[in-house]
Amino acid sequence: MARRKKIYEGKAKVLYEGPEPGTLVQYFKDDATAFNAEKRDVIEGKGVLNNRLSEFFMTGLSGIGVPTHFIKRLNMREQLIRAVEIIPLEVIVRNYAAGSMAKRLGLDEGLELPRPIVEFSYKDDALGDPLVPEEYIIAFGWASQQDLDDMIALALRVNDFMSGVMYGVGIKLIDFKIEIGRLYEGDFQRLVIADEISPDSCRLWDMETGEKLDKDVFRRDLGNLTDAYTEVARRLGVMPQNATQMVKPTLIN
Ligand code: C5P
Repeated sequence: MARRKKIYEGKAKVLYEGPEPGTLVQYFKDDATAFNAEKRDVIEGKGVLNNRLSEFFMTGLSGIGVPTHFIKRLNMREQLIRAVEIIPLEVIVRNYAAGSMAKRLGLDEGLELPRPIVEFSYKDDALGDPLVPEEYIIAFGWASQQDLDDMIALALRVNDFMSGVMYGVGIKLIDFKIEIGRLYEGDFQRLVIADEISPDSCRLWDMETGEKLDKDVFRRDLGNLTDAYTEVARRLGVMPQNATQMVKPTLIN
C-alpha cells in the first residue's frame, strides 16, 4: 500500500503531503516536551484534544475574519491545512506576567500587565528560541516592517478573540504563542495563523481558583495534563464525551 509522504516531523506534530497541491495533513502526536525537549513524555490523548481544540479556535477565528491555515478536521488526530511558508518567529502575546517574562523581569506571576504585550522569539531550537527585538527581525530580513505590523495586528485580534472565549468559560488567558505563515495567491501574499492554538501553546488559569489548565501542568509537574486539557475542552463544549478513551483504532486485517 502506498505510504503518504512525511514532509516534516516536529516535537508535537507531523506534517504529511496533502491530497491536493497546496495542502498538508497535520497529525497531532501525544508527545509532550518542555525546556527545549530536555523534559519529555507521552501523554495519552493529548493529540486528540489538541486537534479538537485547535480546530475550535481556528474555526472561531475564521468566523470573525482572521485568516488561518485550517481547512477541516479529518479524524481524531488529523486536520487538513493549507501549506504555508512559516515565518521563523514565535509571536507571543501576554496579558499577565508569567513564565519567561516573570523570570526575566522579576515579576510575580499573575501580575496584570498595563496592556497586552506582543513579543517575538526567533524559532531556533539550538539557540533556545531567543527573544528578539523588532529591529533584528527587519535587519535580518525575517519579515518586513509591513509584515511585522500585520503580525502584531493579527496577534492582537487573536488575543481579543481568545481572551473573550476563555473569559466566557471562567478561564483567564495569561499568554499564548502563535506562528504565522505566508500564503501565496498569485503574486500576492497573505499572512495567516498557522501551526496550532491549544493548551500546549497558551497559559490558561481558572478564574476562581487560579488552577493551571495548560502545559505548565506538565512543565511543573502539577498533575495530570490530559485531565487539564479535557477540562478546557469540556468547558468550551468541544468533545462533550471523553473521546480520548477512543484514541486507539482497531486495526482490521
Ligand atoms: O515561556 P514563556 O513564558 O516565554 O511562554 C510564553 C507563552 O508562549 C506560553 O503560553 C507558552 O506556552 C508559549 N510558548 C510556546 N512555545 C514555545 C515557547 C512558548 O507555545 N516554544
